[in-house]
Amino acid sequence: MIERREFYIDGAWVTPAAPRDLEVIDPSTEEPCAVISLGGQADTDAAVAAARRAFDGWAFDTPPAERRALVEKLFAIYQRRSEEMARAISLEMGAPIDMAREQQAPCFDWHAANFLKAFETFAFERPLGPHAPTDRIIYEPVGVVGMITPWNWPMNQVTLKVIPAMLVGCTMVLKPSEIAPLSSLLFAEFVDEAGFPKGVFNLVNGDGAGVGTQLSRHPDVDMISFTGSTRAGIAIQKNAADTLKRVHLELGGKGANLIFADADDKAVVRGTRHCFNNSGQSCNAPTRMLVERSIYDRAVEIAAETAAKTEVGSAHESGRHIGPVVSQAQFDKIQGLIQKGIDEGARLVAGGLGRPEGFNRGYFVRPTVFADVSNDMTIAREEIFGPVLSIIPFDTEEEALRIANDTPYGLTNYVQSQDDARRVRLARRLRSGMVEMNGRSRGAGSPFGGMKASGIGREGGIWGLEDFCEVKAISGWPAE
Ligand code: NAD
Repeated sequence: MIERREFYIDGAWVTPAAPRDLEVIDPSTEEPCAVISLGGQADTDAAVAAARRAFDGWAFDTPPAERRALVEKLFAIYQRRSEEMARAISLEMGAPIDMAREQQAPCFDWHAANFLKAFETFAFERPLGPHAPTDRIIYEPVGVVGMITPWNWPMNQVTLKVIPAMLVGCTMVLKPSEIAPLSSLLFAEFVDEAGFPKGVFNLVNGDGAGVGTQLSRHPDVDMISFTGSTRAGIAIQKNAADTLKRVHLELGGKGANLIFADADDKAVVRGTRHCFNNSGQSCNAPTRMLVERSIYDRAVEIAAETAAKTEVGSAHESGRHIGPVVSQAQFDKIQGLIQKGIDEGARLVAGGLGRPEGFNRGYFVRPTVFADVSNDMTIAREEIFGPVLSIIPFDTEEEALRIANDTPYGLTNYVQSQDDARRVRLARRLRSGMVEMNGRSRGAGSPFGGMKASGIGREGGIWGLEDFCEVKAISGWPAE
């Protein structure tokens, strides 16, 4: 059993103010695999105070090139120790080990490289314009940032917050998901090894009701950057209101994948696999497949075949299978929603209730496809966060657009069609922070984030750097 009870505060591993153990459960076996501590107010206060003390030195006395050099050092350490990271992620949240190596752990490399690139040309001082030669616009770090992250892509979210904040000069307290804290504890070791000044990066484990709420309410925290459920995002926004701190929210999604009759041959297989990737536990998963009526029956068949061919297996085994979902609570929630789909009259064409054949332990869910779903059914409205696809027929482009936008969420929508003009029309009208078409994923440095109940703000690339900055307008600057 791994024992990781300490927090990383002010450049050192410290014992929690009061002991409060929590077991981390291996989702493949349902057995405890590690024990951590849940922090309390005294731990939160100590971490915030350390970040506050470190702020001026890091923000104003450390040249950007020095901050960059430390981040580059961290980058090298992460690359050297990425196998350890893949193992930690696989163990804590159930990503199959090959997937953890190829997709989960390398999220850091991708985002950190993009931030370092964007930082090369990031202008902290900008002129207002030739009409105002003695004006300057200065981008300066927002201050102490509280970072609250989820379990589903743990290093992806940590990287999208920690790296840009470090580069622009913020100091921070990270509270990772208590369900998947091992990767962040390892990340803190990397930060320690890189030799950042003490107090720049702090980590306190805890739950939402404890450390999460304490950070959100803390008068000495200038900003909360949160990724997680819409429910928690709303609570954080309310808890942060009294101190008027800036709140950045990356929340849930219910992406539509619009598949037209002129889509490429692979569109349905690709969309189904995408929905099941990471066992369906991605905020941007295309969980509502909208299919043009003329190809609907064939699409349902292909999706059902794809689901039947999707293997499920332990996170500890090599292979291309999907793993368990993260916890008993998620397993129960998904089972409840599958039952709702059946009760509300959707047609089950693959998967269904219970574990896949051969499993009597572990939070394994059958890859499931519902056809004849209408957009007002619970399975079309709620984020399921499991390998469950809902297929909805449509007759016209207008109807497809209306169904796609008829959701509280607005994170990523998808379009599959060979008609350039149609794709452009839809890309402009879909109400989501991102639109991905014909299987092309977004490029390096592209901003990630949502509209409506999917959140506020954008992460990644230049937008991700600016997100951690205040904008200061100055007049009377010495003329050049
Ligand atoms: P969650 O909201 O339950 O937990 C996320 C984090 O918030 C955890 O660290 C948790 O301890 C903390 N938390 C919970 N309640 C809190 C509160 N009241 N105050 C402060 N902190 C609180 O979410 P989860 O189950 O860990 O993650 C899954 C959710 O995250 C899904 O809804 C998913 O769509 C969303 N997500 C969004 C994005 C995005 O970028 N939009 C990315 C990944 C995941």
